[in-house]
Amino acid sequence: MLEWERQLKSSLTDPGDLARRFRQDSEHIGQVARKYPMRITPYYLNLISEPGDPVWKQAVPDMAELDDDTGEEDPLQEDRHSPLPNMIHRYPDRVLWLVSEQCAVYCRFCTRKRRVGCRRGQLFTLDSAVKCKELTPAPMPDGLLREGLKYIQSRTEVRDVILSGGDPLLLADEQLEEILSGLRAIEHVQIIRIGSRTPCVMPMRITAKLVRMLRKYHPLYLNTHFNHPRELTPESRRACARLVDAGIPVGNQSVLLQGVNDDPYVMEELLRGLLVMRVKPYYLYQADPVRGTGHFRTSIDRGLEIISYLRGNVSGLAVPAYVIDAPGGAGKLILAPDPVVSRQDDGLVLRTYDGRVCRYPL
Ligand SMILES: *Cc1c(COP(=O)(O)O)cnc(C)c1O
Ligand code: SF4
Repeated sequence: MLEWERQLKSSLTDPGDLARRFRQDSEHIGQVARKYPMRITPYYLNLISEPGDPVWKQAVPDMAELDDDTGEEDPLQEDRHSPLPNMIHRYPDRVLWLVSEQCAVYCRFCTRKRRVGCRRGQLFTLDSAVKCKELTPAPMPDGLLREGLKYIQSRTEVRDVILSGGDPLLLADEQLEEILSGLRAIEHVQIIRIGSRTPCVMPMRITAKLVRMLRKYHPLYLNTHFNHPRELTPESRRACARLVDAGIPVGNQSVLLQGVNDDPYVMEELLRGLLVMRVKPYYLYQADPVRGTGHFRTSIDRGLEIISYLRGNVSGLAVPAYVIDAPGGAGKLILAPDPVVSRQDDGLVLRTYDGRVCRYPL
């Protein structure tokens, strides 16, 4: 058994075990986990130093998930832009293909909370009523693999295929390679992207063998998902280095999370650390109004404040675009602090990052 398989096999899924380990109330954790499953790899569990810390908050079920009656199950209406149950085609040149329904850790703030981590087949059927039991990674059914490739083949405007889920790197190397080689046989597919949180929550997944396989399918990009500087460890650093050394550009998509990273100094440390690991911060997401995640949501003003701070204080390379997903599936929108104080006939009045006001002639 490989180390990452061992991690999956011994990951924490029983609320009782977790409660005993940290002397918490297993009744509450269990109640939440019955609706939204829990899984925490031993690796990620070790990053927790005490209940309520930034790693705990991301991974341990919280009663607030059940108490949240705001938000919707599918605010982005992904289900409406789906030519196939597991494919979202919202922009002309890109498709998002959900090829795995499993993750190494079930993030409590997940946008696809309604669909990931559940009984085999849930993600692949759009049936959000199915309850969660099995934990073994299930490959995409053969029929859907063929249908997906056929769809992409038929849409010659698609140049960019994003493999997502769940987490595509929970598939076995052979299953993933079947998808990648199928895509590479389609001439109009220029780039392939993989979205995976494994470099952060189960970095031993990035084996030399996996990377040797991936690099055959260039141009290939990988976007990962670190949210807090504590997640930058020697192991995650090694995983990212392996990918980058194989010529796979690695980007990072964080979610702005109350009590985890909604602080300019925490964010600064995270972003600087990522750059040192040769990981390019790509997006910072405003937490979508998804039911069960209300306790993580911050105000948009807070997000803008953090971006303003970063612009002046951190290398521009480290600053991600702050994005919100427009409700109803209208797509992503980038928000940025507005430097324009006023617009006059002869020029713009602008405010710089350190608060100085200047005039720019038109
Ligand atoms: C986010 C997203 C993409 C990718 O968007 P980029 O801005 O190109 O990274 C593609 N399709 C869907 C449905 C998305 O939500
Ligand atoms: S790894 Fe991604 S898809 Fe999986 S639970 Fe976390 S946020 Fe959701």
